[in-house]
Amino acid sequence: MPAYFSKIDLHSHSTASDGAFTPTALVERAIERGLTHLALTDHDAVLGVKEAQEAARGRLELIPGAELSATWENKQIHIAALFLDIESPILKEFLDNQKTLRVQRAMEIGAKLDKQGFKNSYEECVKRAGEGASITRGNYARYIFEMGRAQSADDAFNSYLKKGKSCYVKTNWPDVKDVVKVILQSGGVPVLAHPKRYILTNTKLRALMEYFKDAGGVGIEVSSSQMRPCDRDYLATLCQKYDFYASLGSDFHAVGPFRELGLNLLMPENLKHVWDLPQAQNYHFE
Ligand code: AMP
Ligand code: MN
Ligand code: MN
Ligand code: MN
Repeated sequence: MPAYFSKIDLHSHSTASDGAFTPTALVERAIERGLTHLALTDHDAVLGVKEAQEAARGRLELIPGAELSATWENKQIHIAALFLDIESPILKEFLDNQKTLRVQRAMEIGAKLDKQGFKNSYEECVKRAGEGASITRGNYARYIFEMGRAQSADDAFNSYLKKGKSCYVKTNWPDVKDVVKVILQSGGVPVLAHPKRYILTNTKLRALMEYFKDAGGVGIEVSSSQMRPCDRDYLATLCQKYDFYASLGSDFHAVGPFRELGLNLLMPENLKHVWDLPQAQNYHFE
């Protein structure tokens, strides 16, 4: 099947977290690839949004967003916050707290890596990430790969950083309910990110969706870049069942074989879209 490219992509990362492109370079890439709408959703950060908006002005609709880390039943869940008011004091306070959690965790991961024979891992990772950026396990995965201790960032993640491995550190992210509340109070639309990536049974996934809905969640990502058609169809069914608005996003971080801005973001039929919401009306969706 030939690749399909969507002109709308509502999930992407820049150097403000674990993406490889600066906000400006990311916007340039989106324009080159023919996108009309891009949401910047860095992990627990809106640091790159202003720069991206500047770069996009008059050429691309840049939607201010963030991907917020949350907890549900002891699992780490990601909630994409779209159409955010990045000046919201409630959001700022929340992000300050997330930053504290991230710094603490990054230091603990760094200490564990140093025990595995790395040197000054935390400092090295911060240096590579740049001033003010959120440090995620994605940053560490790339660092481990660069140090020649893994075949790829993916391999580094699986060998050192994922749950059960030597450098995994558990983080007490706020409950999904509290994260949704902050997003709503900051004018944003809470969207459950990549629902099929949490490795839940269908029963558990439905329970998560019910919890998210009950908390005030508005949308779910129905379409991602690397997705089996049967998974997309199942998410479309759940989107209708719980009366969610559908979103879509590549989760683009860096150039690679499978993920690319707009790539394979097919939207199933008969769904309401997040861009039909009043929060989207200033962004000139057709
Ligand atoms: P964190 O929010 O710090 O737990 O880091 C999550 C990030 O790690 C994700 O957004 C990805 O960028 C990255 N990540 C997750 N799984 C993998 C993997 N298998 N290989 C490489 N990076 C991954
Ligand atoms: Mn990431
Ligand atoms: Mn995520
Ligand atoms: Mn992401």
